[in-house]
Amino acid sequence: MATCEVCGNSYGMTFEVHAQGAVHVFDCFSCAIHRMAPICEHCRVQIIGQGVEADGHWYCGAHCARAEGKVGIVDRV
Ligand SMILES: [Zn+2]
Ligand SMILES: [Zn+2]
Repeated sequence: MATCEVCGNSYGMTFEVHAQGAVHVFDCFSCAIHRMAPICEHCRVQIIGQGVEADGHWYCGAHCARAEGKVGIVDRV
């Protein structure tokens, strides 16, 4: 039994996420998303899908990248 690092819930069905050499433990996907998802730098929404990375900045989609002045960004569908 492990403890979710976000909400502290001890739960038999926790799962691990290995990212960038670290191991994170969560009890549910909403906690994992809360901890792992990058934040769109334009609209501040959490990026659950692929997102768009431009010049080291993360956006939820091409429309937000363009709104921040990043040109030539298109959504990958
Ligand atoms: Zn949790
Ligand atoms: Zn956005």
